[in-house]
Amino acid sequence: MAFKHKYEDMLKKAYKQLPEVEATDSRFEIPKVHGRLQGNRTIITNFNQIASYLRRDESHFLKFMVRELATTCEVNNGAATFVGKHSPSVLNTKIEKYVKEFVLCKQCGKPDTELIVEKDDTFKRCEACGSKVSIRSIK
Ligand SMILES: [Zn+2]
Repeated sequence: MAFKHKYEDMLKKAYKQLPEVEATDSRFEIPKVHGRLQGNRTIITNFNQIASYLRRDESHFLKFMVRELATTCEVNNGAATFVGKHSPSVLNTKIEKYVKEFVLCKQCGKPDTELIVEKDDTFKRCEACGSKVSIRSIK
């Protein structure tokens, strides 16, 4: 039990240390979670903002996170509540993974991409260089 409490304190501290300010320049940066723990749940309060910053469908991003964290989740007023305690560093790593796989262009590295679904295949198309690559679809 003692360990459990220590771990929770550590997580709470980690959340406190997160910066409050978002980058305001136009350069693309991988967004960081703003979150907090509530009992046995982890709330990402800027979930919607992250999805819209990445210009990805909220439900697509959500499916990815739920799969990666092997948990369940619900979204309310732009905040996502995941079952279980997840540290911000783990969540940020998942977001980085999502951005690399589903947002950044493999060819030119720019984030100006869109996802296109054709029949059963999903493609990532880059508006900057025109490349179009097949990506795994998340169901
Ligand atoms: Zn490109």
